Amino acid sequence: MPRERVLVAIDGPAGAGKSTVSRMLAERLGFVLVDTGALYRTVALAVTRAGLDLGDGEAAGALTEELARGRRIRLVPPAVTGPSSSRSAGPPAGPPSDRPPESGAAPGGSGVRMLLDEEDVSAEIRTPSVSLAASQVSAHPRVRTALFALQRQAGERGGVVLEGRDIGTVVFPDAEVKFFLTASPTERATRRQRELVEKGTAITFADTLAEVVKRDRADSERPVAPLRRADDARLVDSSGRAIADVVSEMVEVVLGVERALGLGAAGAAGGDVAGDPVSSEG
Ligand code: C5P
Repeated sequence: MPRERVLVAIDGPAGAGKSTVSRMLAERLGFVLVDTGALYRTVALAVTRAGLDLGDGEAAGALTEELARGRRIRLVPPAVTGPSSSRSAGPPAGPPSDRPPESGAAPGGSGVRMLLDEEDVSAEIRTPSVSLAASQVSAHPRVRTALFALQRQAGERGGVVLEGRDIGTVVFPDAEVKFFLTASPTERATRRQRELVEKGTAITFADTLAEVVKRDRADSERPVAPLRRADDARLVDSSGRAIADVVSEMVEVVLGVERALGLGAAGAAGGDVAGDPVSSEG
Protein backbone atom coordinates (compact mmCIF):
# COMPACT_ATOMS: atom_id res chain seq x y z
CA MET A 1 0.00 0.00 0.00
CA PRO A 2 1.54 3.36 -0.96
CA ARG A 3 2.11 5.69 1.98
CA GLU A 4 0.47 9.11 2.14
CA ARG A 5 3.35 10.51 4.16
CA VAL A 6 6.89 9.22 4.28
CA LEU A 7 8.33 6.97 6.90
CA VAL A 8 11.42 8.42 8.59
CA ALA A 9 14.00 6.04 10.04
CA ILE A 10 16.49 7.45 12.56
CA ASP A 11 19.28 5.18 13.71
CA GLY A 12 22.43 5.86 15.65
CA PRO A 13 24.33 5.17 18.86
CA ALA A 14 23.28 6.07 22.40
CA GLY A 15 23.53 9.72 23.38
CA ALA A 16 23.70 11.25 19.90
CA GLY A 17 20.58 13.25 20.75
CA LYS A 18 18.41 10.77 18.86
CA SER A 19 15.48 10.79 21.30
CA THR A 20 15.22 14.57 21.48
CA VAL A 21 15.79 15.04 17.76
CA SER A 22 13.21 12.36 16.91
CA ARG A 23 10.63 13.87 19.23
CA MET A 24 11.16 17.38 17.83
CA LEU A 25 11.16 16.15 14.25
CA ALA A 26 7.92 14.20 14.74
CA GLU A 27 6.39 17.24 16.42
CA ARG A 28 7.42 19.59 13.60
CA LEU A 29 6.07 17.21 10.94
CA GLY A 30 2.97 16.14 12.85
CA PHE A 31 4.18 12.54 12.67
CA VAL A 32 3.75 9.77 15.21
CA LEU A 33 6.94 8.90 17.08
CA VAL A 34 7.95 5.31 17.75
CA ASP A 35 10.95 4.99 20.07
CA THR A 36 11.93 1.36 19.50
CA GLY A 37 14.61 1.44 22.20
CA ALA A 38 11.78 1.88 24.71
CA LEU A 39 10.36 -1.47 23.53
CA TYR A 40 13.68 -3.24 24.14
CA ARG A 41 14.03 -1.50 27.49
CA THR A 42 10.59 -2.66 28.58
CA VAL A 43 11.35 -6.23 27.53
CA ALA A 44 14.60 -6.04 29.53
CA LEU A 45 12.66 -4.88 32.58
CA ALA A 46 10.12 -7.68 32.17
CA VAL A 47 12.89 -10.29 31.79
CA THR A 48 14.59 -9.00 34.94
CA ARG A 49 11.35 -8.91 36.91
CA ALA A 50 10.53 -12.46 35.81
CA GLY A 51 13.86 -13.54 37.32
CA LEU A 52 15.11 -14.82 33.96
CA ASP A 53 18.75 -14.82 32.89
CA LEU A 54 19.34 -11.87 30.53
CA GLY A 55 21.75 -14.07 28.58
CA ASP A 56 19.17 -16.81 27.97
CA GLY A 57 17.89 -15.91 24.51
CA GLU A 58 15.25 -18.62 24.35
CA ALA A 59 13.66 -17.71 27.68
CA ALA A 60 13.83 -13.98 26.96
CA GLY A 61 12.46 -14.60 23.46
CA ALA A 62 9.56 -16.72 24.71
CA LEU A 63 8.63 -14.03 27.23
CA THR A 64 8.83 -11.31 24.54
CA GLU A 65 6.50 -13.33 22.29
CA GLU A 66 4.06 -13.69 25.15
CA LEU A 67 4.22 -9.95 25.92
CA ALA A 68 3.65 -9.03 22.27
CA ARG A 69 0.85 -11.55 21.73
CA GLY A 70 -1.01 -10.58 24.87
CA ARG A 71 -0.54 -6.83 24.24
CA ARG A 72 1.05 -6.72 27.64
CA ILE A 73 3.64 -4.26 26.41
CA ARG A 74 2.36 -1.03 24.88
CA LEU A 75 3.95 2.08 23.55
CA VAL A 76 2.10 5.39 23.80
CA PRO A 77 3.54 8.07 21.52
CA PRO A 78 3.66 11.68 22.69
CA ALA A 79 0.57 13.68 21.70
CA VAL A 80 0.79 14.88 18.11
CA THR A 81 0.22 18.62 17.90
CA GLY A 82 2.06 19.44 14.67
CA PRO A 83 0.75 20.17 11.15
CA SER A 84 -0.87 16.76 10.52
CA SER A 85 -2.49 16.24 13.89
CA SER A 86 -5.88 15.62 12.30
CA ARG A 87 -4.58 12.39 10.81
CA SER A 88 -5.89 9.36 12.66
CA ALA A 89 -2.75 7.50 13.60
CA GLY A 90 -3.23 4.90 16.28
CA PRO A 91 -0.41 4.10 18.68
CA PRO A 92 1.76 1.26 17.47
CA ALA A 93 1.10 -1.35 20.09
CA GLY A 94 -2.43 -0.71 21.23
CA PRO A 95 -5.66 0.87 20.01
CA PRO A 96 -6.21 4.62 20.53
CA SER A 97 -8.62 3.97 23.39
CA ASP A 98 -5.68 2.42 25.21
CA ARG A 99 -3.97 5.76 25.53
CA PRO A 100 -3.74 6.76 29.17
CA PRO A 101 -4.13 10.42 30.03
CA GLU A 102 -0.90 12.41 30.03
CA SER A 103 0.66 12.25 33.45
CA GLY A 104 3.67 13.87 35.06
CA ALA A 105 6.00 10.82 35.17
CA ALA A 106 9.25 11.25 33.21
CA PRO A 107 8.86 9.46 29.90
CA GLY A 108 12.47 9.99 28.76
CA GLY A 109 13.83 12.22 26.00
CA SER A 110 11.59 10.82 23.28
CA GLY A 111 8.41 11.62 25.24
CA VAL A 112 7.16 8.09 24.54
CA ARG A 113 5.45 6.31 27.44
CA MET A 114 5.67 2.59 28.02
CA LEU A 115 3.13 0.40 29.74
CA LEU A 116 3.96 -3.08 30.99
CA ASP A 117 0.88 -4.95 32.12
CA GLU A 118 -0.85 -1.56 32.36
CA GLU A 119 1.83 -0.22 34.72
CA ASP A 120 3.56 2.96 33.52
CA VAL A 121 7.25 1.99 33.53
CA SER A 122 8.42 5.05 31.54
CA ALA A 123 10.78 6.26 34.28
CA GLU A 124 12.01 2.87 35.44
CA ILE A 125 13.21 1.82 31.97
CA ARG A 126 15.59 4.80 31.78
CA THR A 127 18.00 3.72 34.53
CA PRO A 128 21.59 2.70 33.61
CA SER A 129 20.98 -0.90 34.70
CA VAL A 130 18.00 -1.22 32.35
CA SER A 131 20.08 0.38 29.56
CA LEU A 132 22.66 -2.38 29.83
CA ALA A 133 20.00 -5.06 30.24
CA ALA A 134 18.28 -3.77 27.08
CA SER A 135 21.54 -4.04 25.20
CA GLN A 136 21.83 -7.66 26.38
CA VAL A 137 18.29 -8.81 25.53
CA SER A 138 18.36 -7.02 22.19
CA ALA A 139 21.19 -9.31 21.05
CA HIS A 140 18.84 -12.32 21.02
CA PRO A 141 17.32 -13.11 17.61
CA ARG A 142 14.10 -14.43 19.12
CA VAL A 143 13.56 -11.19 21.04
CA ARG A 144 14.19 -9.12 17.90
CA THR A 145 11.83 -11.23 15.80
CA ALA A 146 9.07 -10.86 18.37
CA LEU A 147 9.42 -7.07 18.34
CA PHE A 148 9.82 -6.86 14.55
CA ALA A 149 6.10 -7.28 13.80
CA LEU A 150 5.14 -4.64 16.36
CA GLN A 151 7.50 -2.15 14.75
CA ARG A 152 6.35 -2.95 11.20
CA GLN A 153 2.75 -2.54 12.23
CA ALA A 154 3.55 0.79 13.85
CA GLY A 155 5.23 2.26 10.80
CA GLU A 156 3.80 0.77 7.65
CA ARG A 157 1.20 3.50 7.07
CA GLY A 158 3.85 6.21 7.02
CA GLY A 159 3.65 9.58 8.74
CA VAL A 160 5.86 8.06 11.41
CA VAL A 161 9.32 8.69 12.80
CA LEU A 162 10.86 5.43 14.00
CA GLU A 163 14.05 5.68 15.98
CA GLY A 164 16.34 2.83 16.92
CA ARG A 165 19.43 0.98 15.81
CA ASP A 166 18.29 -1.12 12.84
CA ILE A 167 15.27 0.70 11.45
CA GLY A 168 16.87 1.71 8.16
CA THR A 169 18.79 -1.55 7.76
CA VAL A 170 16.37 -4.27 8.95
CA VAL A 171 12.93 -3.11 10.08
CA PHE A 172 12.19 -0.63 7.27
CA PRO A 173 14.86 -0.95 4.60
CA ASP A 174 12.26 0.67 2.32
CA ALA A 175 11.92 3.84 4.45
CA GLU A 176 11.71 6.89 2.18
CA VAL A 177 13.97 8.92 4.48
CA LYS A 178 16.81 7.50 6.57
CA PHE A 179 19.07 9.39 8.95
CA PHE A 180 22.05 8.06 10.86
CA LEU A 181 22.54 10.43 13.77
CA THR A 182 25.81 10.43 15.63
CA ALA A 183 28.14 12.58 17.76
CA SER A 184 31.57 12.16 19.34
CA PRO A 185 31.72 9.73 22.32
CA THR A 186 32.68 12.57 24.69
CA GLU A 187 29.73 14.67 23.59
CA ARG A 188 27.38 11.70 23.84
CA ALA A 189 28.57 10.88 27.36
CA THR A 190 28.20 14.53 28.40
CA ARG A 191 24.60 14.60 27.19
CA ARG A 192 23.76 11.26 28.75
CA GLN A 193 25.26 12.25 32.12
CA ARG A 194 23.26 15.48 32.12
CA GLU A 195 20.10 13.53 31.29
CA LEU A 196 20.67 11.02 34.11
CA VAL A 197 21.56 13.67 36.67
CA GLU A 198 18.42 15.63 35.76
CA LYS A 199 16.45 12.48 36.49
CA GLY A 200 18.12 12.12 39.87
CA THR A 201 20.65 9.37 39.06
CA ALA A 202 24.08 10.29 40.46
CA ILE A 203 26.75 9.14 38.00
CA THR A 204 30.26 10.36 37.18
CA PHE A 205 31.37 11.39 33.71
CA ALA A 206 33.89 8.53 33.62
CA ASP A 207 31.20 5.96 34.43
CA THR A 208 28.84 7.46 31.86
CA LEU A 209 31.52 7.40 29.16
CA ALA A 210 32.29 3.78 30.04
CA GLU A 211 28.59 2.89 29.75
CA VAL A 212 28.29 4.63 26.38
CA VAL A 213 31.40 2.93 24.99
CA LYS A 214 30.36 -0.48 26.33
CA ARG A 215 26.88 -0.21 24.81
CA ASP A 216 28.26 1.02 21.48
CA ARG A 217 30.55 -1.95 21.30
CA ALA A 218 27.84 -4.45 22.22
CA ASP A 219 25.37 -2.91 19.75
CA SER A 220 27.87 -2.68 16.87
CA GLU A 221 29.56 -6.04 17.30
CA ARG A 222 26.58 -8.29 17.86
CA PRO A 223 25.92 -10.77 15.04
CA VAL A 224 22.19 -9.97 14.79
CA ALA A 225 21.12 -6.57 13.43
CA PRO A 226 24.30 -4.76 14.47
CA LEU A 227 24.24 -0.98 14.65
CA ARG A 228 25.45 0.30 11.29
CA ARG A 229 24.61 3.07 8.90
CA ALA A 230 22.44 1.97 5.96
CA ASP A 231 24.14 2.76 2.65
CA ASP A 232 21.35 5.17 1.75
CA ALA A 233 21.10 6.85 5.17
CA ARG A 234 22.03 10.52 5.50
CA LEU A 235 24.75 10.95 8.10
CA VAL A 236 24.02 13.68 10.63
CA ASP A 237 26.72 14.57 13.15
CA SER A 238 25.22 16.60 15.99
CA SER A 239 28.59 17.31 17.70
CA GLY A 240 28.76 20.95 18.75
CA ARG A 241 25.50 21.80 17.02
CA ALA A 242 22.29 23.17 18.49
CA ILE A 243 19.61 20.47 18.41
CA ALA A 244 17.09 22.92 16.92
CA ASP A 245 19.39 23.53 13.92
CA VAL A 246 19.86 19.82 13.37
CA VAL A 247 16.09 19.29 13.48
CA SER A 248 15.42 22.16 11.07
CA GLU A 249 17.78 20.68 8.51
CA MET A 250 16.14 17.28 8.89
CA VAL A 251 12.67 18.79 8.44
CA GLU A 252 13.86 20.33 5.16
CA VAL A 253 15.18 16.99 3.98
CA VAL A 254 11.90 15.20 4.79
CA LEU A 255 9.75 17.86 3.12
CA GLY A 256 12.07 17.82 0.11
CA VAL A 257 11.66 14.06 -0.26
CA GLU A 258 7.88 14.38 0.11
CA ARG A 259 7.82 17.08 -2.57
CA ALA A 260 9.81 14.87 -4.90
CA LEU A 261 7.48 11.93 -4.27
CA GLY A 262 4.32 14.01 -4.50
CA LEU A 263 3.36 13.15 -0.93
CA GLY A 264 2.08 15.11 2.04
CA ALA A 265 1.06 18.75 2.19
CA ALA A 266 3.83 19.73 -0.22
CA GLY A 267 2.91 16.92 -2.59
CA ALA A 268 0.99 18.82 -5.23
CA ALA A 269 3.78 21.34 -5.77
CA GLY A 270 6.42 18.82 -6.91
CA GLY A 271 10.12 19.73 -6.65
CA ASP A 272 13.58 18.54 -5.83
CA VAL A 273 14.85 16.28 -3.12
CA ALA A 274 16.90 18.33 -0.66
CA GLY A 275 20.14 16.86 -1.89
CA ASP A 276 23.07 16.28 0.42
CA PRO A 277 23.36 14.62 3.75
CA VAL A 278 22.81 17.17 6.51
CA SER A 279 26.36 16.72 7.63
CA SER A 280 29.08 14.38 6.58
CA GLU A 281 31.41 14.85 9.51
CA GLY A 282 32.44 11.49 10.96
O1 C5P B 1 17.73 3.76 22.12
P1 C5P B 1 17.90 3.23 23.51
O2 C5P B 1 19.18 3.66 24.15
O3 C5P B 1 16.73 3.48 24.37
O4 C5P B 1 17.98 1.63 23.32
C1 C5P B 1 18.28 0.77 24.38
C2 C5P B 1 18.97 -0.47 23.82
O5 C5P B 1 18.04 -1.22 23.02
C3 C5P B 1 20.15 -0.18 22.90
O6 C5P B 1 21.38 -0.11 23.57
C4 C5P B 1 20.13 -1.34 21.94
O7 C5P B 1 20.89 -2.40 22.46
C5 C5P B 1 18.70 -1.78 21.91
N1 C5P B 1 18.01 -1.42 20.67
C6 C5P B 1 18.13 -2.25 19.59
N2 C5P B 1 17.44 -2.00 18.44
C7 C5P B 1 16.65 -0.93 18.35
C8 C5P B 1 16.52 -0.05 19.45
C9 C5P B 1 17.23 -0.31 20.60
O8 C5P B 1 18.86 -3.22 19.63
N3 C5P B 1 15.96 -0.71 17.22
